[in-house]
Amino acid sequence: MKALPCGHLAPAAGARVCAHLTTDNGPDCFRVLTGVATRYDLLCKSCADADAPELLDACAGCFQRAEGGADLGWRGSPEILRRDRDLGGAWTTTACPVTPLNDRCLAALPAGWLAWTADGLVALDPEPRHISVVDLPPESPPTGPGEAPEPALHTAADGRFAAAVTDYGRHGVVVDLASGAAPLALDRQGYHPQTVRFPVAFLGSVVVAATDWNRLDAFEAATGRLLTERVTSREENREHYLDYFFGALLPSPSGRFLLADGWVWQPEGIPLVLDCATWLAGDRHAPEHGQALAFRDSWDVPMAWVDDETVALQQIGDDLPIDGIQLHDARTGRRTGMFAGPAGRMWGHGGLLYVAAETGLEVWDPADGARVGLLEGFTPIAHRDGTFAELRDDQLRTWTPAA
Ligand SMILES: [Zn+2]
Ligand SMILES: [Zn+2]
Repeated sequence: MKALPCGHLAPAAGARVCAHLTTDNGPDCFRVLTGVATRYDLLCKSCADADAPELLDACAGCFQRAEGGADLGWRGSPEILRRDRDLGGAWTTTACPVTPLNDRCLAALPAGWLAWTADGLVALDPEPRHISVVDLPPESPPTGPGEAPEPALHTAADGRFAAAVTDYGRHGVVVDLASGAAPLALDRQGYHPQTVRFPVAFLGSVVVAATDWNRLDAFEAATGRLLTERVTSREENREHYLDYFFGALLPSPSGRFLLADGWVWQPEGIPLVLDCATWLAGDRHAPEHGQALAFRDSWDVPMAWVDDETVALQQIGDDLPIDGIQLHDARTGRRTGMFAGPAGRMWGHGGLLYVAAETGLEVWDPADGARVGLLEGFTPIAHRDGTFAELRDDQLRTWTPAA
């Protein structure tokens, strides 16, 4: 093995650093994209500003050490891979005089969709059918910075139950869609709910929801019976006290894991993977011991499961990020890949990622980080097992990819 230009007899990083970054305690630096995929070099400010800076092939150790000071952000542009093909697939368009309260108020039913409208819950299967009104307690004014309360709708995969909740708010309710009854009122208390979406998800006949800023519980959806009695307060159970604001919850394809979007004081966003199979089988403090995937500037960023082992997080670079996707191993948290481009609400299905971007629905293949298609002008707001739905101007449009 020959010594690298940084002076070390060590494995190459496959990337370069400026000469000022080969020593301990070097200056802060930029990540400077090379224009090849998402590869980047590290350059101190004066080198990043220079016309022809001297760059050295670094060893893995030098690069990693220098990257610890990559606090200045990004320069240059990534390569965005586009291999658009005709996506084909099947379209439907039907008149539908139903107006969801917002883009989060349409959810999947096994044979249609459920909308939360000004009149309450309306099933579209396919003719509009009124299910129930939604009656939630008023929200208190926020106690700090955050978002205004917004209604959001979730459904169980078998279509038996829905949860009508308040993102960035405190209250919600589980509704039995067969009877219109409300077996369970949801209340996550008043500690800074304006900072996160309402944490709720269905796992089969169980609904998981926040009952405090740092606590999730599981309930039998049909009866509202609590399944996860335990002590989590700092005073009574320091070992299992969790200092974490739970946000949106996203079940993995098998339902075994939940991806939680949330944050801790500084503030710092930390996506967590929770093992619900072990939790519901008796490991009662599993939600207090999730696997962190990243420590980042932001949260409430689009996320999706690629498969049961892989999570896609939007935004590349955990601080001062750029548009794109980081792939993480759900079990270890390790970052396993990244690619530039995607930005927008996102769903995973069949190993592909579907992103509602400004111009339309984009399909991305995380296997090689390329966009493989674009449906211009189609901006879905709900997804069911590969079928995407857009409901606006009294028109319901759906698209299902070719099998
Ligand atoms: Zn330099
Ligand atoms: Zn070195």
